[in-house]
Amino acid sequence: MKTRIHNFSAGPGVLPEPVLEQACQDLWSHGDHGIGIAECSHRGKQFDEVIAAAKERIARLLTLDDDQAVLFLHGGARTQFYQLPMNFLRGGRRATYLDTGAWSAYAIADAKIYGTVDVPFSSKANRYDRVPEPGEWGELPEGTTYLHYTANNTIAGTEFHYVPEVPDGVWLASDMSSNFLSRPLDGSRFGFIYAGAQKNIGPAGTTVVIVRKSLLPRANVDGLPKMLQYAVQVEKDSMLNTPTTFSIYMIERVTAWLEENGGLEAIERRNVAQADRLYGIIDASDFWKGMSKPGSRSRMNVTFTTGDADLDATFVKQASAAGLSGLKGHRSVGGLRASIYNAQTDAAVDALCDFMREFERTHG
Ligand SMILES: *Cc1c(COP(=O)(O)O)cnc(C)c1O
Repeated sequence: MKTRIHNFSAGPGVLPEPVLEQACQDLWSHGDHGIGIAECSHRGKQFDEVIAAAKERIARLLTLDDDQAVLFLHGGARTQFYQLPMNFLRGGRRATYLDTGAWSAYAIADAKIYGTVDVPFSSKANRYDRVPEPGEWGELPEGTTYLHYTANNTIAGTEFHYVPEVPDGVWLASDMSSNFLSRPLDGSRFGFIYAGAQKNIGPAGTTVVIVRKSLLPRANVDGLPKMLQYAVQVEKDSMLNTPTTFSIYMIERVTAWLEENGGLEAIERRNVAQADRLYGIIDASDFWKGMSKPGSRSRMNVTFTTGDADLDATFVKQASAAGLSGLKGHRSVGGLRASIYNAQTDAAVDALCDFMREFERTHG
């Protein structure tokens, strides 16, 4: 097998090596079925076991309750930006959104197509350098259906380190695309969670959607195609049409890898340790500048800069030549970004730390 370089891509991102090795075999012939995992019917026992196990593992990891359904849908996290308000806001309802990054802003724009959207907090004027303090957004407007927030802001490199409180009668909705299953979380506090698989738990193709079944009767499904009705997707167990079978298989294997390696507590320790090492280097000298406020720093996407766009470009180029790939910041914010999702190896973080120190020594 050809060697792999150190990959800091923001998404699709790194996957666990043992899972990739097994997937190579299972693509050829899955278990003792004699049929590759991408070649079997989604209606047969072979795939049934895979999707059932994927749902069970996610429910167990997030301590979901019996009222919460786990779905695997198409169209990326971005489809949820409109599918959620299409179901729950049409007919003159309102929702509250916290604007903490480019993805929040896209979600807000789509929600406005269907209902009234209140945005009581935005860090946009400061280049999205932080998330709010708990409760900083104040009282929620009368009649709010749900409070939506982006748990990790992939582009700006900020993250909520707490779960917002909501008053009785309002439910919590969150885009967890880029920190899904990266830390212990009581999933039963949520009405709605969604996450595109390709940042932290699998290849592109699937969006994990967790919806509270008791909310479904409140959805306005008048004129909605069946594919876009959550109630239908729950009833059909994500199989109204052909689901993204290979991506779901990979999610099952990645969640098995998480459970076999100590679950969310263990992965959190590893994620914190890796993030601390990178932020430690950034904080230890004036050469590096972190791009997000310390209390809001993401453990998944570390954004930093030398403060000089040309020097940042030199860093990206030399890092790439040294086998460290994917370190260029998002074009909307510039700078540098190291994505250190669950599967990021300590060896890759070691190599990046060494490279940063050497770069500072030679360019500082
Ligand atoms: C990448 C990302 C998205 C978009 O995901 P797609 O699956 O490409 O639609 C949405 N939200 C967040 C937080 C992301 O990181």
